[in-house]
This record gives sequence, C-alpha cells and structure tokens, in this order.
Amino acid sequence: MTDEVPQCEQDPSPAQYREHRRPQPRLQHVPEGPEVRRVADQLAKVLVNRPLNAVWFRFPQLQAQAASLLSSPIRDVRSWGKALLIEFDDGRTLYSHNQLYGRWFVCKAGTRPATNRDLRVVLETATHAALLYSASEIDLLQPGAWQVHPFLGRLGPDVFAASTTPAFLRRRLLSPRFAKRALGGLLMDQQFLAGLGNYLRSEILFAAGVHPDRRAGDLDDATIALLARQIPAMARRAYLTAGETAPKAWVRARKAAGRPHRACRHLVFEREEEPCAACGTSIRRVDYSGRRLYLCPTCQPEPLKP
Ligand SMILES: [Zn+2]
Repeated sequence: MTDEVPQCEQDPSPAQYREHRRPQPRLQHVPEGPEVRRVADQLAKVLVNRPLNAVWFRFPQLQAQAASLLSSPIRDVRSWGKALLIEFDDGRTLYSHNQLYGRWFVCKAGTRPATNRDLRVVLETATHAALLYSASEIDLLQPGAWQVHPFLGRLGPDVFAASTTPAFLRRRLLSPRFAKRALGGLLMDQQFLAGLGNYLRSEILFAAGVHPDRRAGDLDDATIALLARQIPAMARRAYLTAGETAPKAWVRARKAAGRPHRACRHLVFEREEEPCAACGTSIRRVDYSGRRLYLCPTCQPEPLKP
C-alpha cells in the first residue's frame, strides 16, 4: 500500500466498527494532555513491536519515506503534552499534533471508519490499522532532530513525566521565569508545562482556591504547595477517567440525580451559574487569554489591588 491511496470507501459491518468506536469518547473540547495520552495508549496496544504491512502518508515529502519505515518496528507510542510521538526502532519519530480537527482511529486491518474526514496517515499491521485523519501538523523527525523542531524544541516538560513531581512544579512556579506571570495565562503556556489546556486550567485553579489573576510569586507557601499537587493530580485523574476531574462520589451523586454526563464531569468547567460544590456560590464564566475560564468568585477571590 505504500504507493497507493488506501481504500477508504470500504464499507465494513457495524461489528467491525465496534472496536474503534468504543474507546473514542466524544470530545466537547480540544484534546488536552490526558486525552492525547489515552490515544497514545490505544495506538501503542496495536502498533508496538508489530511488523508493519503498510505505511502511507498524504503528504508527498513524507510518502517518499514511507517504504523505508516498513522495515523498522515501532518501539513506543507516547504523548508529550498535546503532541503524539510514534518512535521507530531506527530512531526516527513520527510527530503529529491534532489541533482542533485531527483524529486517530484504530480499526481492523483493511477496514476504514465511516468518516468524511481527509485521511493523512496509515500505519497497518496484520491485524489493525491506525489511521490519522484531518491533522495538518505531521512530521517525520530524524534521530536527534527534536531540539531544532519549531514546536517540540520549545515545549516544556510533559505533565505526565515521572520527573513532573509537586516538588519540581513548586520550583518551576517560583522560578524567576514564571513567578510573575498570572496563573490563568501561565497554565495554558505549553512552554511552562506541556499538556494542560482549557478545562484543566479551570479545574486546577478552583481546586487550589486560586484566582487566575494571581501570580505564583505572590502566593503563600501552603497555596503554592496545594497548586503544585493539584496540577499533576488533576491531569492524572482526567487521564484515568477519560476526562472527569471531579471526585468520583460527586460525579456519581450528580449522575444519580439525573444530571447529563456533560454536567457531571467537572467541578467548575462548563458549570456557569450552577452552585459551587464547596460553598454554593454561582460559578462564573469569564474570558481569559482568549478562552473561557470558569471560577467560583468566593473560593477564588480576586487578588487585592495595590
Ligand atoms: Zn465556592
């Protein structure tokens, strides 16, 4: 298949779709680190150490290298923030960033999902096909080329890295480079930390009781420590639960009360005008760095003006 367009018009049975449909939750927002990591897990399960029968790229400069990848097994698939990295045994890495529209599918070898999206990448083994649709940011990096890559070269540490501990985050928050930045903007900055996005920002600030205008350098020790713990904890909870950041019991109680799934997942995000879980004050929605942010005006008081 390396020299031809894959057969996208195949019409597999509903049973054949089941596999890739089940693990792909409907996202209501741009995928953040936890969602990308879950996709990496799915791809790793079907690709790592499995001989590739077909490699195909939509873009000609990548397609020129497709055949050479057939002889190099995939040794790892992982996320780094919102980037997805597929590492080949010969040291090359397929980098992709889905932005708003890109989406990976996993299906049985030889089948294609029912989608009108534009196919960009095919990686196919004897049993499965990993298919990337609609993404425009795709690159095949030569060994050691990461540092000079325009996006990856500037990325901060991944929120899920073993070295991203609360102690490390406390030091990073208080470093001269970041301590004077308003946290509402800083938490979205992928150079500070890769993987946080809009819903995680709102949930982390709420859990730490911090207003988005506040700066790490102005917080007391206990609040800094709480914030540094909440950042990886919230990301990990979202990863393990496919996007829930609220405590399990709270989610369960709200579902039992008949609330729609979307209104049960988060403590403040997308809960405008609903009562705060901690104090009952109405959650407020504001625009912050061009994106919506949700907060409790009582639990996250504005900093005092000088
Ligand atoms: Zn509150």
